[in-house]
Amino acid sequence: MPHQPRKRFGQNFLQDGNVIADIVAAIHPLPGERVVEIGPGLGALSRPLLAALGRLDAIEIDRDLAAALQEEFAPALNLHLGDVLEFDFPALGADLRIVGNLPYNISTPLLFHLAKFAGDIRDIHVMLQKEIVQRMIAAPGDSNFSRLSVMVQYRFSVELLIDVPPTAFKPAPKVDSAVVRLLPLRPLPHVARDEKLFARVVAAAFSQRRKTLRNSLSSILTAADFVQIGIAPTARAQELSVAQFVAIANFLAQTGTAVLTSSPSE
Ligand code: SAM
Repeated sequence: MPHQPRKRFGQNFLQDGNVIADIVAAIHPLPGERVVEIGPGLGALSRPLLAALGRLDAIEIDRDLAAALQEEFAPALNLHLGDVLEFDFPALGADLRIVGNLPYNISTPLLFHLAKFAGDIRDIHVMLQKEIVQRMIAAPGDSNFSRLSVMVQYRFSVELLIDVPPTAFKPAPKVDSAVVRLLPLRPLPHVARDEKLFARVVAAAFSQRRKTLRNSLSSILTAADFVQIGIAPTARAQELSVAQFVAIANFLAQTGTAVLTSSPSE
């Protein structure tokens, strides 16, 4: 019986051969590389990836799909049944290449999860909702510049590679999609001494994005602090660069005045 797509697992399967070929060409898989596919589904990407690589690791949450994939591709496919949000990527080694047509319902938490393992990752090629991609690549001052932009750009360079219309999938999603490449920045151009504190500062600033920083960060920064950091208290979160967010976090880490209690939800 054909597989019935499960909405709760964000199952929109790629069916357009040209798009599949473009994605694989962008990844440019070479034998011997350690490629990890997130959500292989019915194998639209796994098939050409395996043809190029000879072996592939993949993480799939849907038991039925996992069983069918095992049957078709074992032993070349090393399938990990489970939730990618709990997956320990470094257990597979270093220099990992992460790929996938992601389940859109978990894409933001997944990006935060992957960021934790950036040291073990060579690159990431993923299909995402176009709207999320626009936030990931937005520059300070753009209307799409958001918490996600800062957190992703702190650790990665991001490039939009391919625009993908809904018709490339079955069932067709209601939104446009795009494939992006993320490359871990090595070394980091701006280092937050306390990355949890940095994440909290960014979350606090964007939680009231229309307010000036003087207002949104009033519980942690005084007027004198703004002068010392060199940032205008009348600026809004959307106008600050990653470097400026890092400067605020490092100032707070150094002065020990960080009293941000709410932890950013990931
Ligand atoms: N790669 C296939 C393709 O392009 O046709 C399927 C892509 S589909 C958008 C997303 C896939 O991720 C589905 O196979 C789904 O079951 C799987 N998935 C959803 N949530 C997951 C999770 N938390 N962990 C691992 N896989 C997940």
